[in-house]
Amino acid sequence: MTLTRTTCPYCGVGCGVLAGADGTIKGDPDHPANFGRLCSKGAALGETIDLDGRLLNPMIHGKRADWDTALDLVADTFSAAIAQHGPDSVAFYASGQLLTEDYYVANKLMKGFIGSANIDTNSRLCMASSVAGHKRAFGTDTVPGTYEDLEQADLIVLVGSNLAWCHPVLHQRIAAAKEARPAMRVVNIDPRRTATSDLADMHLSITPDGDVALFNGLLAHLADTAHIDAAFTDAHISGLADTLAAARTTDVSDTGLPADVLNAFFTLWAETKKVVTVYSQGVNQSQSGTDKVNAILNCHLATGRIGKPGCGPFSVTGQPNAMGGREVGGLSNMLANHLEIDNPDHRAAVQEFWNSPTICTTAGLKAVDLFQACADGKIKALWVMSTNPAVSMPDADGVAAAIANVPFVVTSDMIEATDTNALAHVLLPAAGWGEKDGTVTNSERRVSRQRSFLPIPSEARPDWRIVSDVATRMGFGDAFAYQKPADIFAEYVALDTALSPFPRDLDLSIFADADYANLIPTQWPRNGHRFFADGAFYHPDGKARMISVTAPKLTKPRLALNTGRTRDQWHTMTRTGKSPRLGAHLAEPYVEIHPTDAAELGAVPGAVIEVQSLYGTALLRALITNRTPKGQLFAPMHWTRQRTTTGTINSLTAPVVDPVSGQPSLKAGAVTAQVY
Ligand code: SF4
Repeated sequence: MTLTRTTCPYCGVGCGVLAGADGTIKGDPDHPANFGRLCSKGAALGETIDLDGRLLNPMIHGKRADWDTALDLVADTFSAAIAQHGPDSVAFYASGQLLTEDYYVANKLMKGFIGSANIDTNSRLCMASSVAGHKRAFGTDTVPGTYEDLEQADLIVLVGSNLAWCHPVLHQRIAAAKEARPAMRVVNIDPRRTATSDLADMHLSITPDGDVALFNGLLAHLADTAHIDAAFTDAHISGLADTLAAARTTDVSDTGLPADVLNAFFTLWAETKKVVTVYSQGVNQSQSGTDKVNAILNCHLATGRIGKPGCGPFSVTGQPNAMGGREVGGLSNMLANHLEIDNPDHRAAVQEFWNSPTICTTAGLKAVDLFQACADGKIKALWVMSTNPAVSMPDADGVAAAIANVPFVVTSDMIEATDTNALAHVLLPAAGWGEKDGTVTNSERRVSRQRSFLPIPSEARPDWRIVSDVATRMGFGDAFAYQKPADIFAEYVALDTALSPFPRDLDLSIFADADYANLIPTQWPRNGHRFFADGAFYHPDGKARMISVTAPKLTKPRLALNTGRTRDQWHTMTRTGKSPRLGAHLAEPYVEIHPTDAAELGAVPGAVIEVQSLYGTALLRALITNRTPKGQLFAPMHWTRQRTTTGTINSLTAPVVDPVSGQPSLKAGAVTAQVY
């Protein structure tokens, strides 16, 4: 069997996969992300490539249609809405599942040709707080870490991350490094005790959203114990004094952690030179998400623990191509290639390169605001690409109603029966993993190819082509005459070259003469490059900023609902739900509840518990465990309305966001519970 070298479509680790049309799946031993390893989800990919449930032809109002009719309708309706109500009356909602080429074309159409920045993405739910925190501190959205740093560190601090389930191959790499070098220490900071905690030398069961207090407390401790690197901060950092003053006002009891535990953690961090702090959704998905990110970055900047092997903050992304999306500018507050919408020189340069009739001038709507605008009747035409916001957005029932309020909704998806497709007027069949070609960028800035090893079925088409076909019908054909994904990648790299006068971290010159067909996994700007090794950052004065952050006032609800992933499912289960062995892990929606809370409710193991919030209700099977603290519940996010009749979890979560990043808070919403 011929095996094709491609990349896993799930998490941001970005593992290399060898895949065959007969369903053979192996880890790619030559891919630097995984060196042949795969997790349970990756290993089961061969069970997910059948055509059951696929959307295989365009549909208009529930009836099969031909491509020309569907594309004409989409183009004409978007054009009419723009003509009548202006460019900001239309919106795209995209996905970290899109390939970079898909993202690039969609971003170009919306920002350069429609003239609005109303393109946001489910990546807003994933890492927008990290983007905002990076930009505040570094002047750019730079992820300085590499996976090798995890193996070289003497201390790894995992914050708000169940790496063992959500980034399993990274967890395997850390476990192997720790076994080879037992002196390595791992600390896990998470209200819940998870599979990740089992690897840790210390598990800090922090109060939800206590992270700013914790890292402010650490910063004060670092100063009090003479661990600030004065030479580094004097030369390369601004804001130390103010940030430290704010940190000293923090009440570390807000962390909920005993003094001896805090002291042990602070001492370990202070006395270990090679520290990597890995953070994920427990940090990002919070009302104080950006401040949490900066509280972490502050500690690394103050001690010079950045830009060196085995050191640094490290945001790990949830999705396979959240990084590629932010590189091409696929968020509503970005332009393209790490340039800024509000900079007229940046706008002019991108418009000139695109030779486009217009360019957006202000940031567009972020995800929660975008769907609120749908509810308010401001969005007249909406295109949802490769994602299912009627389930995955907070206040999912409200979002479903908002989508239903839009006069014209298009979805492009590989699956037919999704909660969002049920609300759409036009469905466009998209090619899926294994069928389409392009690139993705993983959490360590490594660009890898996704390659096809299956024919595109029936009438499905790659996303980049669908968007280009609509753009052409809207009158922009010259700028969207791509024949293949390599054409788009080459343009994206050429745009980066054209933007070289603007100092940025993004530098794609390593791909200038790339052999796209045979592209090997490559980090930008160069394999092995270490950002900030020279102490140079991207603010105009070349210095990094420590950001003064204050711990949020925490109002502790009687019961707080935490949401997240399980080990063997991915997002809304459209692919993983096909695998019997993955389904055998945790077969139905459930809620983790502490024994004391369960006893108060009168719940026995397996009882059905009705969980309610201001936004909705769900019935969930009780999994009674002291891994989830008293006063907190945990429920997985995967089950859609299609898969459960008793309530999808985001029916309960609130559309409350971090004020800087716009990322929703999905980890600590107030709920009530009773036995059903
Ligand atoms: Fe895929 Fe992530 Fe598992 Fe790697 S760790 S095989 S990228 S799901």
